[in-house]
Amino acid sequence: MRTMEGMAALVTGGSRGIGRAVCLELARRGAAVAVNYAGSETAARETAERCRELGAEAEIFRADVSGAAACEELVRAVRERFGRVDILVNNAGITRDGLLMTAREEDFDQVIATNLKGACFCMKAASRLMVRQRFGRIVNLSSVVGLRGNPGQTIYAASKAGIVGLTKAAAKELAAKNITVNAVAPGFIETDMTAVLPEKGRAAMLAGIPAGRPGAPEDVARAAAFFAERDSAYLTGQVLCVDGGMAV
Ligand code: NAP
Repeated sequence: MRTMEGMAALVTGGSRGIGRAVCLELARRGAAVAVNYAGSETAARETAERCRELGAEAEIFRADVSGAAACEELVRAVRERFGRVDILVNNAGITRDGLLMTAREEDFDQVIATNLKGACFCMKAASRLMVRQRFGRIVNLSSVVGLRGNPGQTIYAASKAGIVGLTKAAAKELAAKNITVNAVAPGFIETDMTAVLPEKGRAAMLAGIPAGRPGAPEDVARAAAFFAERDSAYLTGQVLCVDGGMAV
């Protein structure tokens, strides 16, 4: 089902993990894919190559989305390459875990800049284009942690709760322009981000998942692609948990 033929997508943090799976899912559906990365060029090249093997156009774009100017430049470069930006998936994200009592200002600034400011300014740049196109699909990566909190992740949780507010406000601003803005909130997904969790933390996480197992990046990618479809036009401002029942 190449339902996204003729569409161009930008996925931030498309080099690894969930972002890579999103790139591949969109490519499978026929979209041209801009694979953004910050440091992992080899991984980004591999993502793009795998998109091409699925019959899609794909290109890599290096940009650190923690700066507003870099976000603007990224969207401009993608538009120059593909002629349009129909889909934006704000996936790039980092964690700096630790107890609130030991929180460091630089960790707060870095996490909020990457996870929240990056999404905001990529949306700003992309939505200007999308308004002119009178079409757009924006999908933001939140987290179950942003909805429910998690000890040791106050800063990360704040950034992901911020994504929910950003998503809902932008959804209201852009709805009349045929631009939808939704969020996916993953639970515990097997990626590099969760591979660093200590065994005790991992076991505690798993115990809280009714499905009894972690999710795969592809589980999240299918939900993101669902929001990004042309047909999902009357669906905006929503937060969809992909979490094996964790947040129920
Ligand atoms: P991951 O495996 O650690 O991958 C993170 C991705 O973000 C990489 O592609 C990385 O690119 C990119 N990135 C980091 N900082 C960046 C920056 N400043 N500019 C551009 N790209 C940047 O993480 P993941 O588990 O796939 O998570 C993806 C998203 O899902 C994140 O927003 C995360 O918060 C969210 N999430 C994940 C889980 C989970 O269980 N895994 C749960 C809930 C929510 P480089 O490799 O090039 O640095």
